[in-house]
Amino acid sequence: MEDHSNRLAALRGRVRGQPLYVSALANIRYLTGFTGSAGHLLVTADSATLFTDSRYSAQAREQVRCADVRISRGDARPELAAAATRLRLKRLRFEANRLDYETYAYLGAELPRCRLMPVRSVVEKLRQIKSPSEIAAIRASLALNSAAFEEVFGSLDSGWSEAHVAAELEFAMRRRGAQGAAFPTIVASGEHGARPHAEPRDLRIEPRALVVVDQGAILEGYCSDMTRMVAVGDPGAAQKALVRAVLEAQAAAIDAIRPGVECRTVDGRARQVLKKTTVAGFRLDELFVHSTGHGLGLEIHEGPRIAPEQRQRLQPGMVVTIEPGVYLEGVAGVRIEDVVAITESGCDVLTSTPRELRLL
Ligand code: ZN
Ligand code: ZN
Repeated sequence: MEDHSNRLAALRGRVRGQPLYVSALANIRYLTGFTGSAGHLLVTADSATLFTDSRYSAQAREQVRCADVRISRGDARPELAAAATRLRLKRLRFEANRLDYETYAYLGAELPRCRLMPVRSVVEKLRQIKSPSEIAAIRASLALNSAAFEEVFGSLDSGWSEAHVAAELEFAMRRRGAQGAAFPTIVASGEHGARPHAEPRDLRIEPRALVVVDQGAILEGYCSDMTRMVAVGDPGAAQKALVRAVLEAQAAAIDAIRPGVECRTVDGRARQVLKKTTVAGFRLDELFVHSTGHGLGLEIHEGPRIAPEQRQRLQPGMVVTIEPGVYLEGVAGVRIEDVVAITESGCDVLTSTPRELRLL
């Protein structure tokens, strides 16, 4: 509860006490502790009120201590509009990157005397700096995720399909107490691995094919995210060289992480390493088609982005993935992903699973 009061106070500081309507559920959870799937939060200089519906009355009263709770029979938006009218709000800030158009139009019609003003990522910016308890929660989520990986790949049956392995991983997460997978688990072998967001197929994993395994769990609301390379039997020198290059790129990026460093610098380090190697006429950095990493926490993709042109500077408390990858169409893909917390003096890798290619 203390956390939530501090977060609400920090938010009021950011918007200088101006009224803000928080519509994103992850932001509502961060500010109040409410985990329901429908709700609206109105924060003013001296009040915070959560509007939700009767499906969540017991849950909201139990979880929310630092805000008032209003329960409506159906749609909670009329209550929100009525509260804004009662408060005679002249201006109401809303989350431009989060609010759906229908609700925006509804509030515009219901509050003719109130100017709706877009703000971007106000709560998200607060969320980028994790508290020690949040970092512990992410670490626990990663530990669970790694345990699921060990369990499944420790006893993998070589006849399993990609879809079967993905299902086993998600089952192992749930059995260990996860609320679910943080995103659809990726198990992609051979040429299918060249698609960064491949969907697992009902096809047996061929011997000696490189397999991209990208998996994450949600534990106590906090996400984990890890990618490892696996092969059933030796994939040969050329493919192992690809894995080595990506490992080296990842290590160089992690090595650059410390407070004050711009995100683009970390991203650039990974690309520099990949530039040195050529495969089938391509420089590996040309086959690295996404950014190097992203923040994570209550959501799987948060700020900051570790990407080219991102001048944002790293700060202690940020938690990011470092996940360079190379994708050679028709042949294979390689990605390796760890989660790193930025500390006062450098960084702390939170993922415990060894990074090297796992030969089964
Ligand atoms: Zn991932
Ligand atoms: Zn990721």
